This record gives sequence, structure tokens and C-alpha cells, in this order.
Amino acid sequence: MLPQFIPNWIDGKECEAHNNARFDKIDPATGQKQSSVARSTEADIAAAVQVARKAQSAWADTPPVQRGMLLLEIVLGMKARQKEIAEIVAAETGKSFKDAFGETGGAIQLGLFYASEGQRLYGRTTTSGAQNKYAITVRQPLGVAGLIVPANTPIANVAWKMFPALICGNSVVMKASEDTPATSWVIGKIATEVGFPKGVLNFVQGFGREAGAALVAHPDVDVVSFTGSTAVGKEIQRIAGERFARVSLELGGKNALVVCDDADLNNAVKWVALSAFSNAGQRCAACSRVIVFDSIYDQFKKMLLEKAAAQKVGPTDNDDFGPVINERQLTNMIAAVDASKKEGARVLCGGSRLTDPEHANGFYMAPTILENVSPAAAISQKELFGPITILYCVKGFQDSLDMANDSEYGLTACIHTKNFDRAVKFCDKIRTGVAVVNGGTYGSEPHMPFGGLKQSGNGTREPGTEALDVYSEFKDIYLMMDPSHL
Ligand code: NAD
Repeated sequence: MLPQFIPNWIDGKECEAHNNARFDKIDPATGQKQSSVARSTEADIAAAVQVARKAQSAWADTPPVQRGMLLLEIVLGMKARQKEIAEIVAAETGKSFKDAFGETGGAIQLGLFYASEGQRLYGRTTTSGAQNKYAITVRQPLGVAGLIVPANTPIANVAWKMFPALICGNSVVMKASEDTPATSWVIGKIATEVGFPKGVLNFVQGFGREAGAALVAHPDVDVVSFTGSTAVGKEIQRIAGERFARVSLELGGKNALVVCDDADLNNAVKWVALSAFSNAGQRCAACSRVIVFDSIYDQFKKMLLEKAAAQKVGPTDNDDFGPVINERQLTNMIAAVDASKKEGARVLCGGSRLTDPEHANGFYMAPTILENVSPAAAISQKELFGPITILYCVKGFQDSLDMANDSEYGLTACIHTKNFDRAVKFCDKIRTGVAVVNGGTYGSEPHMPFGGLKQSGNGTREPGTEALDVYSEFKDIYLMMDPSHL
């Protein structure tokens, strides 16, 4: 099902990287080599950008409604192959087929939303201060879009960036995640099969430092849209910002979920477990801080520990979550937990790699809950991107809000309460891009803008119609009518 070799897609053709360089993609569920992948560098990026630049003007001249119809063909191709795509996603990430199928469904919905935007690429008409003068704004493409995605929800990440960039009339060079190369490759294959215009949508495989950095630095890339870690996001902002390229950054989070004394505790436990552990905690919107009122702390802790003990870890549809994406990630997380222990953190469950025969070869981390951690400690402030969460005890509402806001990040947050006033105040005062009442810290919808404050992003929002602002430029047009010519 997975190809043995995963090439680039440039100009509608599969191709090797320059000098035929390749790297191995490892299966996170088994630790075995899964495929070899084109290891692209600056020369491959240059070739892809050149092709994309050449194809862009005809694509920009294609009326948006027709662009939408062409995108719809890709969406229908994805729908027809939903099972195959989900199998690829599951194989590359180690997540269950069920989760991968749902994620692919989300990507299809997102594609449908943007294909339809071709009929709604609204500008504005407004009044003018002068007689016989008409004022209009229209959206125009930026040019070549350089898109960089992570591996956590790979098909959603690919769709999230390519569809809005394309509907706005940009051509695309996407740097696939090195951990999920086949997910991007299969979309390139579908695009080619449905006759999508050559050169408009290109996928380049490779590592961040080699291929990603070259895409960011390329002078002919007009907009860089990046989803990934805050550290890399900062570098991208600096490099692409230097030449005034448009930059959109969707970065990390350290998201808090507050459990008040009046919460439905069963519901809160359910959502904390889902937000902290599902997808092996590899979500920018994962719940990594659980802030609990002191009067219910012990009861809630007991219930959450029971839930954690019941988590099934593995790659099948009967499991709650699978491995983390690579060994480096696993090693870093365990080191962070070990360091926190030295500072007094209590590991209530997990904290280590699963080493039983079923899991020993894969990159499996046990569901992990810590307590007795200072809110200022490194592990309270730095994102880990794994199935790890920390319990904190607070006196009441204001303390919980202050602690939730005490973070470098500001992506999502959630409160569990039956008190309307607490819910409203929390949504008003939490410094995040997403606030949820009585649910989880994660979840987004294709038509809703997602993004964060502080170190979680640079203020842009994707997807929703707001993503159109990332990928298009407004132009003011004034029409002067001369009555003497009538
Ligand atoms: P990462 O930043 O290491 O890598 C992400 C992508 O960037 C990969 O394709 C990688 O190859 C590339 N990259 C790495 N270094 C680069 C460089 N110097 N120049 C250009 N590209 C480079 O992140 P990761 O560990 O793969 O992904 C997890 C991160 O992504 C977490 O921080 C998570 O919160 C974030 N994320 C954010 C959102 C969001 O919408 N806010 C969604 C999903 C994931």
C-alpha cells in the first residue's frame, strides 16, 4: 500500500531529488523502515519554485469559479479514495485506521468548503466621497505559496494549507513532513490523475533544515505558511520577513482546561483524557495543563487516574492512541519528564516508554499524568507534544483564570462548569484564540478561523474565510464615470 520509494511531485511528474538522494522513513508502530523518500535540497526547491512561478499566471487568470471546479475534482478524487488515503495516514503515523479515516473526512470537508469559495471570493463595493466615482476592492493572488506542514494530523494539515492557497489563485510548493511523506505524495497523485493543471500544485519531500529552510529563503516565494513548532516559526518569520514575504504561522500550545467545583466530573474526565491523550497528545491544541479547584481535586484526580489506567495504547481501532511520530520526539519527552522529577514533580502514572513485547519496538509513551509541578517550571511552560498532562490545584475561579493565562502560548483553553457567569467570564478573559465550555481543548471546523495569540502564532487565522486573507492581496479599484461622455 505504501510505495517503496516516495518521490517529489514537480510539474505534474514524479521525480527523484537532486543527486538521487534519499532518506528512510521509519514506521513509528514498529521501528522498522517503511519506505525511502526523496531527500530534497535547495536545488529541488529551486526547480519546484520555478515551475510554480511559470504556472501561476495562467492559474491566476483562471476564473475563481473554475478554479473551484478544478479543486472539486481533487476533492472528489479524495472522497473516492478515502479508504486508501486513511490507510496511508494510519501506516505512516501509527494511529488507528478509524482516526485516520475521520481525519481524511475532515480534509475532504475542508476541500469542499474552499472549492465552493470560488463562487464567493468576495471583495467589497462601497461608496465614494466623489460624484461619479465607484469604489471596489477585489482579492488578487500573491503568487507562489510556500507551504510547510507537520506530521501530527497529516492529511488535515495538507488540505488546510493547499486548498485556500489554490482557490486564491496562487501556485503551491508544499514541503511535506519528513515523517508523513506518502500522505502528501498521494494527494499529488490524485491531482495528476484528475488532470489538475501541471505545475500549479507541487510537493517536495525532505527535511526541514534542508528543503524547508530553502523554501522559506527562496526569493520568489511570495507567501510562506507554516504549521509547526514555535522555535522554527520564529526563524521563518525572521527569514521570510526580511524580504517582506507574507508569513502565516500556526504554532504550538500549552493549553489549559479548568475544572470548577460545580463541573460534571464525568464529562470533565472524558474531555481531559481525549484532549491529553488522543492522537498520542500530538496536537497543537492538546490539553497539557489541567487546573482543578481544590475542593474536588482529590476526587477528580482519582477519576482521571482510573481513566488513564484504562487507556489502550496501540495502532488498532480498539486502541485509544498510538505511538508518537519518531524516536527523537519520544526521547525528548521522557527527558523532560525525568528533569521535572528532579525538581519535585510527582509522576502519578506513566512517565516512560512502553517496553512490553507488543510495544517495545515502536515509539510508544505511556499515558502520563504529573502533579506537584510549579506553574513556572519548564515542563509547565514548554510544549511537549505527547500524551502527557499536568494537574494543578487552585482555590477558585480567579486563580484558575490567572494560571491558565500564565503561559507563553495562547492557542486554546477550556472550562468545565455549570455556572453561566464563570463560563462567560472565562471566554471573555482567557488570552487564547479558541475558548471552549464543557468540551475539549482541541477541535476545529473547516469554516471557522483557528489560531492563537502570543507564541502560538503571528495573528493570522486558517482555515475559514479568514484564510483567504493569508493567501490574497486586496486591490482597491476606482471607476470614474464621465457624464459628458453619455
Ligand atoms: P517542526 O517545527 O519541527 O516541523 C514542522 C515542519 O517544519 C516539518 O515539515 C519540518 O520539516 C519543517 N521544518 C523544520 N525546521 C525547519 C526550518 N528550519 N525551516 C523550514 N522548515 C522547517 O514541528 P513538528 O515537531 O514536526 O510539529 C509539531 C509542532 O507543530 C508543535 O509545536 C505543534 O504545536 C505544532 N502544530 C501547530 C498547529 C496549529 O495549527 N497551531 C497544528 C499542528 C501542529
